[in-house]
Amino acid sequence: MREKQSVKELEPYVVNPVVCSIKLDANEGNKDLYKDLIKKISSDFYLNTYPDDNYTELKKAIASYAKCDVKNISVGNGSSELLDLCVKAFVDTNELILSLDPTFSMYSLYAQIANSRYIGAGESNDFTIKVDDIIKSIKENNPKLTIICNPNNPTGAVIKKEDVLRIVKSTDNIVIADEAYMEFSNESVVDEIENYDNLIVVKTMSKAFSMAGIRTGYLIAGEDIIKTIEKVRPPYNLNSISAFLATEALKEKDKMLEYVKTLKVERKKVYNSLLDMGVKAYKSGANFVFFKSDIKGLEEKLIKDDILIRKFGGKLNNYYRVTIGSEKENKVFLESMKKLV
Ligand SMILES: *Cc1c(COP(=O)(O)O)cnc(C)c1O
Repeated sequence: MREKQSVKELEPYVVNPVVCSIKLDANEGNKDLYKDLIKKISSDFYLNTYPDDNYTELKKAIASYAKCDVKNISVGNGSSELLDLCVKAFVDTNELILSLDPTFSMYSLYAQIANSRYIGAGESNDFTIKVDDIIKSIKENNPKLTIICNPNNPTGAVIKKEDVLRIVKSTDNIVIADEAYMEFSNESVVDEIENYDNLIVVKTMSKAFSMAGIRTGYLIAGEDIIKTIEKVRPPYNLNSISAFLATEALKEKDKMLEYVKTLKVERKKVYNSLLDMGVKAYKSGANFVFFKSDIKGLEEKLIKDDILIRKFGGKLNNYYRVTIGSEKENKVFLESMKKLV
């Protein structure tokens, strides 16, 4: 056997290969939002040199957007890479990672590859997050790393800022707030990184900024944590084209803010319409709505209408997640649902 044991046992992260013209499965943003930025890559954009490994311009733009200092930032090839680097930097073989249940499946994947242990905590029947149970589990199990996805993927549940800080205060070990969707809510702990030397905030250009294609994420934390992350970060991990496009998008953040406003209106529409149909939908602070449906083969039936949503298995059998798309896309999805229920 060539694969190491932990990889042999690994279930790969599956990306649905089905192509539909209404793509509401991956929480991607508005396709037109920063489309024109590509035109800024002109003939004097040289590709022969490595990127600036300090990512000076990008970090300046992030610092201005996130209201932090350049010295508090590391950048990554998607925030996924940064999450992996955190596992590499802070968790040894057989040490424990604690996260929510259910949550983003990449956390347990990275944990497994690193031969660390993984547990979920804070679960409840209505998918709200039981913060006291998380703190209790942290006290009992003393995880080396705690990852709080806020708002949570796939449920959309939001944890209040003060509750995230209670979790951070309950341990001396590292706590990551994965704020991939925080632009769609208002409970960020980014402004607390100077107050807690064990707090890391991870963010991305993939969701509200609608730039999943450039694979750009960033991490904000106190200087000591940044120094640690920089030790395990591969040099030039972010390519120069992505770094440039992310910088330009961050300078035009007002576009993103406008988009978020319209998205929240649409989110309410989708949520209320699902409830009106008698579908059990869950209140969301992200750019998607999580719901339960007993319709047999719902995913396939929607695919026949050229609509792709995300279906879950295992414990979440009969649960689905639909990304909030454009007004028109949401309308088509809701009409299709109405026909099926
Ligand atoms: C989409 C998502 C990310 C972003 O990943 P990227 O690698 O930056 O595209 C991170 N965390 C969660 C929970 C997500 O859903």
